Amino acid sequence: MTRKTKKLIIWILLIPVIGFLASRFVTPGEISTPPSHPYVRGGHVPATAPTAPISPATGTPNGVQPGAPPAAPAHYGRGGSAVSSPSVSMYELIQLMDAQPTTIRGLSFTNGSNDVRVSRVGGADFVVQAPDDGGKQELRARALADKIPFAVKEVKVDPIAKFMTDNALTLLIFGAFIGLMVMAQRRQAKQMKGITGMGSARAKDADAVRKSIKPTKFTDVAGCPEAVKELKRVVKGVVGKEVYDLFEAEMPKGILLIGPPGTGKTLLAKAVAGESDGTFSITSGSSFVEMLVGVGASRVRDLFENARKKVAETKKPHIIFIDEIDAVGGKRGGGTSAGSNSEREQTLNQILVEMDGMIGNEGILVIAATNRVDMLDDALLRPGRFDCHVAVDLPDKAGREEIFKIHLGKRPLGEGVTLAALAHRTYGYSGAEIKGVCNRAAIVAAEAYDELRAELIASGKTAAEVKEILRPVITLEHFDEAVDFVRYGNAAESKQARMSVLDKKNTAVHEGGHACSAAVLDGCDPVVKITIMRRSRALGYVQYLPENDRVSFTRDQALARIISMMAGRAAQEVILGTCDTGASNDFQQATDMARKMVVSWGMSRLGHISVGDRQDAMGTSGGPNQIGPDLANEIDREWRSITRACYKAAKDIVKADRERLEALVEILMDKETVLADEWQALLAKYPSKFDVKTLVLPKAETEEEGA
Ligand code: ADP
Repeated sequence: MTRKTKKLIIWILLIPVIGFLASRFVTPGEISTPPSHPYVRGGHVPATAPTAPISPATGTPNGVQPGAPPAAPAHYGRGGSAVSSPSVSMYELIQLMDAQPTTIRGLSFTNGSNDVRVSRVGGADFVVQAPDDGGKQELRARALADKIPFAVKEVKVDPIAKFMTDNALTLLIFGAFIGLMVMAQRRQAKQMKGITGMGSARAKDADAVRKSIKPTKFTDVAGCPEAVKELKRVVKGVVGKEVYDLFEAEMPKGILLIGPPGTGKTLLAKAVAGESDGTFSITSGSSFVEMLVGVGASRVRDLFENARKKVAETKKPHIIFIDEIDAVGGKRGGGTSAGSNSEREQTLNQILVEMDGMIGNEGILVIAATNRVDMLDDALLRPGRFDCHVAVDLPDKAGREEIFKIHLGKRPLGEGVTLAALAHRTYGYSGAEIKGVCNRAAIVAAEAYDELRAELIASGKTAAEVKEILRPVITLEHFDEAVDFVRYGNAAESKQARMSVLDKKNTAVHEGGHACSAAVLDGCDPVVKITIMRRSRALGYVQYLPENDRVSFTRDQALARIISMMAGRAAQEVILGTCDTGASNDFQQATDMARKMVVSWGMSRLGHISVGDRQDAMGTSGGPNQIGPDLANEIDREWRSITRACYKAAKDIVKADRERLEALVEILMDKETVLADEWQALLAKYPSKFDVKTLVLPKAETEEEGA
């Protein structure tokens, strides 16, 4: 039972008790406390009335002391009503009135109450309770007879107040019940909001953030000059507005940034906001899609509504950035999960409606990002919607240098640490990864510096001497460590130390197989590092670095890669006569490439076809059915024959270059890592015995065969 439930139960139990107690104490609502129509019968009370003690018969009747009230009333408030005194009965009062009428200044009756207030000359007032209305009448008659003035206080009872008072307990219980219902409903609504975020667009408003940090500018983005130019055009125009007007050129309402994660799509959108001095909201496609149909659409409405409000308030443009738009903008009409699909479609429709409804100068620009433009619904890409596509690819060498320049900032760099050297080491790294490399290298350098400093101080050097000897710089080694960290995770030294010799040998042979096959195949990039040093995401790895950035693969290069991927397992089989689970990632990549060669790149015996992914081609993921079952089976047979042929080639290479491989394994078992220079020396020492001409590669369809 949660604390809240316990509290609720305690309240439920307490409420009737409180209600009961309240009903006991609440008196009928009086709307007039002073006598509303005071009237005095029998004239004024003499001002000089004796204040002597009273004693109707004996002077102290029933214990009433002279000069004191007949009995101490339970309560005398200042000007308030006294609570009836149980000590003075009506009988005693009558006796007093008869015996010493002058000691009584007056009586006060109250309509609807049997209490009679007696005010005395020289003594405290007290209250007598008449047994009933008859008793009150008798007292009045006596007062008239004894010439004692009396007043009748009219108390009006408010019928509503009376009803409330009479039914206090019932009302309290009823109120408590309603209160509980409201509380339960609120909690439910809160939970619903948690699930659905009803009515809120869940877009992070970047205004607050922008106030605290320096706004992003286009100069903060590097490596994608074309994308920057395209976005600059939207913000300020590459030429003046009047020139665009001459040609009636309209700026796009929606821009689609297409590229892999970490290439700077969000950064670009922020730069647009920073440069345009407008406001900015950021959301993600996945945040629209919920289990409940209609929630996503309402969030989209909310998002655009907020944007319009911002524009109206600030008179500045507002940029909506939708990350991962493919989560919501995928092709319609496919899939099997009806609920979530119709929710996704409704959300997408709402985005389209909002974008169609945007008038040219409304001041809202929608920027979306995706990695899978092929997945997007065509309606989203039509003119007037996301018709401006901007590719934000992985940076090339020059781009990486620029990104390094931004993220290195003023960090102190060691000898040989040039932008070119860093860019060369980070082939295939995204902007976000490069940022990570810079930061990790700085951390590694700082820790190494601290360790060295401590050693020097322990050896007797003074702080000044240490400062003189040690320069706080980030070296290439620090960067190498950072580059590996970003790709393969942190070094697992303790696990490495506990690894069995057999496990290490398995890894060394496996990685050696990759390296040896790459050395003989022209289509593979040069190997710069082979290591069996364990990291959190790899037991060991071979690092290849192309001389230049690649933009595409030839068929031979694709096959060379598959062979090299297969060579890890092939080497284990040839050298150790066994295999382990470490090759799964290699096989996954090799299979993926072989399938692409067949279904996408037209590089197989099935000819020059592109039927996309087999799943798409079979129409199972919602797309049109492009191929029949016969071709589907042929596709399967073909990519399997490619992987088989490549595996055989890998085995042949390893067998031929066994001596070279065993030499490499020995060094790896000893030193764990072999770098480029050492590897080149080893290659020279053990020339390859593999004759590339004997390589039997899977065939592709020739023109004659296809005809
Ligand atoms: P994406 O949206 O494409 O996944 P981000 O824009 O979120 O990538 O990138 C994350 C971070 O990586 C950025 O904030 C920036 O610091 C850095 N970064 C990524 N790409 C670049 C780039 N082209 N130039 C400079 N920094 C970049």
